[in-house]
Amino acid sequence: MSHRRLFHSLYVHVPFCREKCAYCGFYSFPAGNAEQYQTEKLYLERLGEEFSARQQDHAPLRSVYIGGGTPTALSPESMHKLLSLVFDYFHVSSSAEITVESNPESLSTEKIAILSTHHVNRLSIGIQSFHGSLRHAMGRRGHLDGLEEKLLQCREKGLDILNFDLIYGIPGQSIRQWQEDLQKALSYPVSHVSCYALTLEENIALTNQEPVLPSEEDELAMWDKADAVLGESGFRRYEISNFAYPGRECRHNLDVWHGGTYLGCGPAACSFDGTTRFCNAADFQSWLNRTPPVVDEVDPPTRAAEILAFGLRTAEGWCRPDFYKLTGYDFWSHFQDKLAHLQAMGLVEAQGDHLFPTEKGFRFADTLARELL
Ligand code: SF4
Repeated sequence: MSHRRLFHSLYVHVPFCREKCAYCGFYSFPAGNAEQYQTEKLYLERLGEEFSARQQDHAPLRSVYIGGGTPTALSPESMHKLLSLVFDYFHVSSSAEITVESNPESLSTEKIAILSTHHVNRLSIGIQSFHGSLRHAMGRRGHLDGLEEKLLQCREKGLDILNFDLIYGIPGQSIRQWQEDLQKALSYPVSHVSCYALTLEENIALTNQEPVLPSEEDELAMWDKADAVLGESGFRRYEISNFAYPGRECRHNLDVWHGGTYLGCGPAACSFDGTTRFCNAADFQSWLNRTPPVVDEVDPPTRAAEILAFGLRTAEGWCRPDFYKLTGYDFWSHFQDKLAHLQAMGLVEAQGDHLFPTEKGFRFADTLARELL
């Protein structure tokens, strides 16, 4: 049976952005210029308290992921303080992957230097599209001015693992424009590219505008285009939405997809300790007021099915002994009927002890997960 384990990774959610993008479903809000200093101060005080309460529960951290929101929207002083708190309270392994999410407009020379001082070695930059008209259609404000120079500075400072987030399936986007976005991304020194299909969730501004999205056929063609353009340059789709050069996969996410433990701090951040998942309130004030996290406790077979489904998001899939060691379940005997059905549907394939998604399984990942859960 799976059992409670120490946390090996840390996720910190920074809920601030300069402005709210119309398509965004993440928990974030504009801090407001006048109140920014005070809001960040409250945030950091509460974060330090949360770190202090959980610092006993971790093994040397293999990865730290500062996401959001836009972590680099913090003032330089607050960014410095946040990263200092991480190292004050946690033992971060010297070989750890330390990622910070950013966007081009909030990345300054001063902030790049701060990230570098605190050993950040991976930067994930939200580009979404290089086409101004498409960024506008998504309600994405901000600009890409000086991007090339900023990336050069990052590399000079040792921040040499760079990811770009791109979005496809944007209202009005043609396959040609998507191809141009992919090619443009490759003209920068990136070693990782995330390609997300635009999703319209309830209660986001873009959904209320009833946008006309590309057809399903065009969206599938965009999926193929990503494989073709990025594949030609040596990138490999190692997860449904993620491409990397071999060896440049995001370690933090790979761990999470393979049942790894992580501590999430900050509003809306979730944690997993090997058996239980728990999520902080997705509301700044409630989090400041120490509202207890929402606990998602499920029985061990359900958790094992969930872990199995998560791992099958990756090209690597699962190795039978690894899965058994982690969960206490042999997937062939425990999920026999479901896996046989998935094989018959052409969604998973087995080779020896390995189970992994097929190309079709990648494309229909939601169906694959639904069948297992
Ligand atoms: S910058 Fe990112 S996190 Fe912030 S509102 Fe836009 S999409 Fe959401």
